Amino acid sequence: MTHAINQNPLFYQTSADLPLVNRAEGIYIWDESGKQYIDGCSGAVVCNIGHNDKTVLTAINDQARSSFFTYRTQFNNRPAFELAQNLVKHSAAHLNRVFYVSGGSEAVESAIKLCRSYYISKGESSRYLFISRSPSYHGSTLGALSLTSYAPLEIPYRPLFKSWPKIPAPYCYRCKYQMTYPSCGLACAHALEQVIEEQGPENVAAFVTEPIGGASSGALVPPEDYFAVIRNICDRYGVMLIFDEVMTGFGRTGRLFAYEHWNVSVDIVALSKGMASGYYPLGAIMTREDIVQNVLSSGGFPHGHTYAGNPMACAVGVAVLKRIIEDRLSENAKVMGDRLMRGLARLAEKYPIIGQVRGKGLLTALEFVQDRESKRPFPTKLQVNNLITANAFDNGLIIYPRRPINGLSGDHVLIAPPLIIKANEVDEMLQRLDAALAETTADLQKAS
Ligand code: PLP
Repeated sequence: MTHAINQNPLFYQTSADLPLVNRAEGIYIWDESGKQYIDGCSGAVVCNIGHNDKTVLTAINDQARSSFFTYRTQFNNRPAFELAQNLVKHSAAHLNRVFYVSGGSEAVESAIKLCRSYYISKGESSRYLFISRSPSYHGSTLGALSLTSYAPLEIPYRPLFKSWPKIPAPYCYRCKYQMTYPSCGLACAHALEQVIEEQGPENVAAFVTEPIGGASSGALVPPEDYFAVIRNICDRYGVMLIFDEVMTGFGRTGRLFAYEHWNVSVDIVALSKGMASGYYPLGAIMTREDIVQNVLSSGGFPHGHTYAGNPMACAVGVAVLKRIIEDRLSENAKVMGDRLMRGLARLAEKYPIIGQVRGKGLLTALEFVQDRESKRPFPTKLQVNNLITANAFDNGLIIYPRRPINGLSGDHVLIAPPLIIKANEVDEMLQRLDAALAETTADLQKAS
């Protein structure tokens, strides 16, 4: 049976009328009308190696001639081995085991379940609580949402999951304790100890955190000694430290993995996004040998997703990682990130609506305020984050809007272009942003 369709049947979060994409190359995307955009946020901070990379296209073609999909309980495959070996080679020495998934939420779910399985295997089955931060984003599935603190995305679903305890993120610009670093003594990090004590240390399994806050907090870089304090608390209470590097991994912040910035030893790391840079769904968790051995020798890890470790996903992962390493894209992210941050600082001098410029490498953000002195946010109804994003889009620049005050108020945008970006392209991006900021300032003056 067939019938006529006269409407777009697709639906996502909103049903906005969007341009149709025609093609993409490097940092650029063209729509069907011929308009060109700079992909200033790599999609959703995904396309680390940029669009239409020929080495990845060749790898996809080669793999397609061999096999696309085989199931992990029936066959091993060479790309899966090769990718795991390369990941281990470029990771902290103790992170030597790899478990594949197909996306960020799956990686976070897998980290939660591996951690829980480990404590059961060690006879510490009372440990079931996961502490995380507010604001934070760890994914859209119910387990990952229970770690997330971003009101509009989690509140409607709260009856469906257990919302785990949260500590304040190190959001120094709007410090929860109204203190200033370093005289605050890192109160937000020490809050972890307090929450562990409140919950009963014997019940706590792990602290889960984004190393540099992503979409929910806007490129939130913690103070230098933050993770030393966190690691110390975790060690004293036998609690795992899980890093959600879904957004920060694969060169984004100027190192291959963000944990390298502070040399912090993490027990499990969740990866996705840049791992296949948008060429295929792919993610993973990496962890220590003893954790895996304990779990496998006490009945196995009863968890997995259908597409895990399939040959095509892993072949893409191999090609993407090779590109990131051989072309030193982490180093480029650092150099271009510094250039971008300098340019953003210049824009902040020109436009008083910019309250703060923050970030590391090519994960950067602008937070907007009505008044710099008081840091008063714009009224929510003005939707300044969406206004600036729409103005940037009109000027041929794609950026990523969110709200830093738990998703409820405040305005920020992420600026996180592909790591292949060149100096003249950073400058071009800044020019388009400049035009968008001028228009937004004028729009806001009209509205007031
Ligand atoms: N964790 C972090 C830090 C993220 O930024 C995201 C997505 O933005 C996720 C997890 C969820 O990833 P996915 O949307 O691939 O499920």
